[in-house]
Amino acid sequence: MNIHMKKTPQFKSVDKALCTFLDERQRAYKSSSEETYWHASGLGYCLRKQYFMRLGLEKTHATPYKYQFVAMDGNASHEWRQEALKDIGILLASEETLISEEHQYKGRYDALVKLTDGLSLIDIKTQGSRAWAYRKRAEKSGVSRAHKIQLGSYFLLLKKKYPKLKDARLYYYNRDTGEREEYIIHFTDTYLQKIIDILTTLNRYWKKQEVPPAPPMHDRKLCNYCDFRGYCKDLKKRGNADTLIENYAGKATTIKKK
Ligand code: SF4
Repeated sequence: MNIHMKKTPQFKSVDKALCTFLDERQRAYKSSSEETYWHASGLGYCLRKQYFMRLGLEKTHATPYKYQFVAMDGNASHEWRQEALKDIGILLASEETLISEEHQYKGRYDALVKLTDGLSLIDIKTQGSRAWAYRKRAEKSGVSRAHKIQLGSYFLLLKKKYPKLKDARLYYYNRDTGEREEYIIHFTDTYLQKIIDILTTLNRYWKKQEVPPAPPMHDRKLCNYCDFRGYCKDLKKRGNADTLIENYAGKATTIKKK
């Protein structure tokens, strides 16, 4: 018997094996990542959540497996489209990490393509029918506010590298029905300045070591799904955040409440 032969892991079901894979992936990602930047994917949502993420705090609530599965399928859905754009000959770059030291910001866009009209930045969004219908109900333009901010933040940095960059596009795909929608966005300087303002605000709180306020009540639908909601509940209950972060994360960071 080969003593180096790897022992077959024991799982009673395929689902258990896949969930374990996700747990291990999450652990590996955590130990290899140092959260020293603001992240593009959360820019249009709660500033406070961004702050907790950058601090590298432990999540107070685990992300349910069903959302992790959806996210993995979303990534896989990007991959074949990027491959297809490459194969068809219009892909110039993809999955490139953009960093702004000035704004302490990091993001990774899906694709940069050359179309008949010029260079276009693409962000692919895969949605189920419920999210698809909600987006169209909530936004007259059909474009999610948060998705637009995320895309704009990529545009801001990518334009410096590719001055000929002409526009940006949100390419929505409904995984339940196969419907597709492509929104072309021309960012104005005023809009891009708003994104810089968000980053400036975040950096101001970071410098002061102060937790940003929670979003207004009507914007708190996502709180029920937030992995950090335990901190906010505690913050509300105790009305004093000075020791809150240490209690949860064992970090020597003192956060002052506003
Ligand atoms: S629970 Fe709500 S307010 Fe608190 S960090 Fe999460 S999204 Fe923000």
